[in-house]
Amino acid sequence: MKADRHEVVVIGGGIAGLAAAAALAERDVVLFEAADRVGGRVLCEAAGDYWLNLGAHILGKTESPMARLAAETGAELLPIRGHMAAVWANGRLVRHGKVESYPFRLKLPLAARLSLIRTGLRLRAANKRSSRHIQDPIHGDRSFTGPYPSVAGDGALDARSFADVLGPMHPDVEALLRTGCNRLSGEPEAMSGHFGSLIVGGLWSSGIRSAHSVRGGMGAITDALAARLGNRIVTGAPALGLEQDGAGVRLRLTRDGAEETILADHAVIATPAPVARHIVADLPADKAAALDHVAYGPYVVMAAVTTETTPMPYDDLYAVAVAGRTITMIFNGANALRDPSGSAPRAPGGALTAYTGADKARALAGRSDDEIRALFIEEINEVLPETKGLIGETRIQRWEHGYPYWRPGRLDIQDALARPFGRIHFAGDYVEYPSTDPAARSGQMAARAILSALDGDPT
Ligand SMILES: Cc1cc2nc3c(=O)[nH]c(=O)nc-3n(C[C@H](O)[C@H](O)[C@H](O)COP(=O)(O)OP(=O)(O)OC[C@H]3O[C@@H](n4cnc5c(N)ncnc54)[C@H](O)[C@@H]3O)c2cc1C
Repeated sequence: MKADRHEVVVIGGGIAGLAAAAALAERDVVLFEAADRVGGRVLCEAAGDYWLNLGAHILGKTESPMARLAAETGAELLPIRGHMAAVWANGRLVRHGKVESYPFRLKLPLAARLSLIRTGLRLRAANKRSSRHIQDPIHGDRSFTGPYPSVAGDGALDARSFADVLGPMHPDVEALLRTGCNRLSGEPEAMSGHFGSLIVGGLWSSGIRSAHSVRGGMGAITDALAARLGNRIVTGAPALGLEQDGAGVRLRLTRDGAEETILADHAVIATPAPVARHIVADLPADKAAALDHVAYGPYVVMAAVTTETTPMPYDDLYAVAVAGRTITMIFNGANALRDPSGSAPRAPGGALTAYTGADKARALAGRSDDEIRALFIEEINEVLPETKGLIGETRIQRWEHGYPYWRPGRLDIQDALARPFGRIHFAGDYVEYPSTDPAARSGQMAARAILSALDGDPT
């Protein structure tokens, strides 16, 4: 049987694969996606004037790969003006004001207040140290001089766990710290000290500078990219194996229940790391070990429509960290639609997302969606009491490969992880500091390297 032949195959239709395929759109490129939709961990659903966020929802600055893709695709960025670092602990919600004031404002016993001051100082010092190497790691705009992403970081902090860097603390403070780590789908004991200090420390000290939503949700970008690529995207086509020789790559996949082979000059593999590890044949030992090193924590997410008819006390909040409960975060996705001056009438209704990550998400594995819904609604009502009786339609999403938080020693494997293997290029959020911006950038870098090779440029 004669196999189809293309210049490039892209495997995986998350933002990394879509960004790669879009950058190769002038060439003969085909993207194969296992699921029946593209977007991967960018997942949202329209809900009247609002939208339900079940995956990525925050973009960074207007100069970033995702913001550029938004501009190219006509997706509208909405500045998030709401508070990003509200904290709920022991029955009290603390909002606004500097995080330095939290030890005095959170409802904590005296020993925990003192411990929070000490831990906060340690975290701030470690954040300062890790930030020397890189600013705005997850939403920043970076250009690389090499052909694939490199990352900078503090090797000594990266060799230790985040728990070890921060040292012992009061249990109430530990609950707060776990909330920060669970937001990144990890636990402090398993997280790189550099990564935790940089990302959790950054969220704690400043929230996210210059954050944006997309009107309709981030899926507006992935949907527009998919529409542009049209029938060059094949969904419901899981890749089974990818091998190469001097002449090109050979992809084995299933489509409509039948196995087929696709040939191409080059491939971009843009699946999560464990899938890439499983699919690509004959990987060099260091590359295989690097892919094995990448750990993803899980999330359980519930997005809900709310049915209020009057302004809500949380209209000016975007993110609430929740300590000591199953849910660890509540996001008010409707915040970007609210007028901070209060002069425009406030539209009725809203949309909230609550999620949990890491061990707390693992603990929900045996629970039904109905049980999760009941538990999450009870906890949202506890943190934001004004939502009682106002939570309408809900969606539950479980992410097994939620987020590739860094484990200790992550800096050491960067080159092996990001380096292409012959004609096979690796893209995805795991090849850099994880989030949509680096994922999109990694896809675009893979496309650039392939375009050079197709055009006969030896560099
Ligand atoms: C709940 C949640 C909240 C988040 N919040 C944010 C946020 O606010 N801001 C932000 O920037 N980031 C956020 N992230 C992270 C962000 O979603 C990811 O970093 C990014 O979407 C990863 O894109 P990707 O293309 O690398 O991977 P993915 O989106 O995982 O795409 C990989 C694709 O490969 C496909 N695939 C898998 N196996 C195969 C196979 N065998 N053959 C073919 N295809 C296959 C998958 O179906 C998937 O579509 C969040 C993530 C989650 C889960």
